[in-house]
Amino acid sequence: MFVDPKPVDPQKLQAFVDTLTQEIHAQADWGKVADYIPELAQVDPAQFAISIVLADGTKVAAGAHHKRFSIQSVSKVFTLACVLGRVGEQIWTRVGREPSGTRFDSILLLEQEHGRPRNPFINAGALVTTDALLEHRAPKDALSEIIGFICAACEDDDIHIDRDVAQSEERTGFRNIALANYLQSYGNMRNDPALTLGTYFHQCAIEMTTDQLAMAGRAIAQLPQAPYVMTRAKARRLNALMMTCGHYDGSGDFAFRVGLPGKSGVGGGILVIAPGRASIAIWSPGLNAYGNSQVGTYAAERLIKFTGWSVFG
Ligand code: GLN
Repeated sequence: MFVDPKPVDPQKLQAFVDTLTQEIHAQADWGKVADYIPELAQVDPAQFAISIVLADGTKVAAGAHHKRFSIQSVSKVFTLACVLGRVGEQIWTRVGREPSGTRFDSILLLEQEHGRPRNPFINAGALVTTDALLEHRAPKDALSEIIGFICAACEDDDIHIDRDVAQSEERTGFRNIALANYLQSYGNMRNDPALTLGTYFHQCAIEMTTDQLAMAGRAIAQLPQAPYVMTRAKARRLNALMMTCGHYDGSGDFAFRVGLPGKSGVGGGILVIAPGRASIAIWSPGLNAYGNSQVGTYAAERLIKFTGWSVFG
């Protein structure tokens, strides 16, 4: 069994996150909320939450950790987990596993690489994985599988889709619509692009609290208390992809500053995995230039300095 050489005292960790939350509220630079999805443009950026689940099941949290937020691209981790369970390794014929070095919604490499997206976390790659989950099924069944997976992973049935957010993106998601049609032109869509897009927008509109998200991440962290929703091999792969591709063209910066696998979303959420040690969910809706949570990234960096949890020592 994994024995942590640097165990952290939960009480000290609680005191640390309480102080960090106060410090964050005292500072001014929250970043900018995603305004290309009208419903998300209305969210107050001056909010922060952090939840941590430790290997022994102890929970530590601070800030607005009971508040639901739009998980957006964090959902791509759960969809990929479902797809790996369903079609297994076949998915890699349709999507790569290399960092893209481009923005999350970029179309740039898609022409050069003949319609095979670089990885499953950029939008083009996520559309392909959602499309794979949808094959031979109705969108509501694919969405039920994703939500069912999340409910099982966090042992909580109270997980829902915010329909206003989904519809808001459906009305304005012209780049994603372009990406899906472009993928279709290369034969890399198995369903009507409109159905894949509808499923994708609804998966992104799942809302969760940081408490729920941290619980859902336990299986990826392979914590002993986690419910069995994935094999160790699958968790290892998700972690590798989160480390190299989880923050788009900011993935190198996140690895440099935090040193842990993470997956961000434009709702301001970040799921951070300390393998064998902890599952961490952070939320602050203001984004940095890469489209990742500005204060969330800062909080992750501070947490890792305090705990010494970077996988790089
Ligand atoms: N739904 C968003 C989009 O497709 C998700 C992007 C993100 O969270 N980075 O644009």
